[in-house]
Amino acid sequence: MLLMTSPTTHIRTADAAAKIAICGISKNFERRGESVLALDRVDMAIAEGEFVSIVGPSGCGKSTLLYMLGGFITPSQGTITANGHVVTAPGIDRGVVFQEYALFPWLTVEDNIGYALVEKGMGADERHAIVSRYVALMGLSGFEKSFPRELSGGMKQRVALARTFAYEPDILLLDEPFGALDAQTREIMQDELLRLWRLNRKTVVMVTHDVDEAVYLSNRVCVMSKRPGRLVEEFRIDLDRSGSRENVVLSDRYRKFRNAVWLSVRRQVDPSQAVS
Ligand code: ADP
Ligand code: MG
Repeated sequence: MLLMTSPTTHIRTADAAAKIAICGISKNFERRGESVLALDRVDMAIAEGEFVSIVGPSGCGKSTLLYMLGGFITPSQGTITANGHVVTAPGIDRGVVFQEYALFPWLTVEDNIGYALVEKGMGADERHAIVSRYVALMGLSGFEKSFPRELSGGMKQRVALARTFAYEPDILLLDEPFGALDAQTREIMQDELLRLWRLNRKTVVMVTHDVDEAVYLSNRVCVMSKRPGRLVEEFRIDLDRSGSRENVVLSDRYRKFRNAVWLSVRRQVDPSQAVS
């Protein structure tokens, strides 16, 4: 069977007309008087409606790249544009789910989920309907009036996802969004994300260390090298996702994509695995 991946060591220069264009991005952090190069000249173009995952060794700069897309960190070199505008600050068009699920500690579960809807000026009835739907969907019934400090890590992560999904930002930026969840909840949330993406065709950029998750969800998986992070390989994942999860993950096609990406990540972690 022909493997439909297209690994490329030559990543094309970002196209300014793309939904998100990352052009020559480098990032240096100052640490105890030393400069640490976290990212090295990353170029990437993401089309409207695309679901792109970024995988790579721990510490290679995945979160840094995502937070630059969100406008929370400024690049040392290069520019990022989203919807044709240079990203200089966070914006309501880009919804971020952070690795450490930053919730507002002074707001209840339902007020956290509804926060951006209030900001959007949505009326109370519509807002309550959306919040209730997400409370039920995320298995948070009975905890509507709880505060984040009263929740487990997995519950906090579900509130963070609900808060971002509920206001339907144009671009979703997800940093290990399912990391704190148990295996079953993780699968439910992945399928919910897939459903939302299919329904609304949002543009999604997700960072994950989970190769299966990346392949199951994405149109394209980008593999980064060890720090300083560079884009080293990308795989187009051409899978029919209209069937059930079982149909997808048990298929030969899925397994071949998954193995190819896994080997690529492994080569980054341990260069002795490189095939010449
Ligand atoms: P990843 O998400 O891929 O695990 P990060 O983007 O969190 O990696 O970090 C990339 C590198 O940059 C790491 O070496 C990390 O220690 C460093 N780094 C990240 N944020 C900072 C910061 N605020 N100050 C100094 N170094 C940082
Ligand atoms: Mg990270």
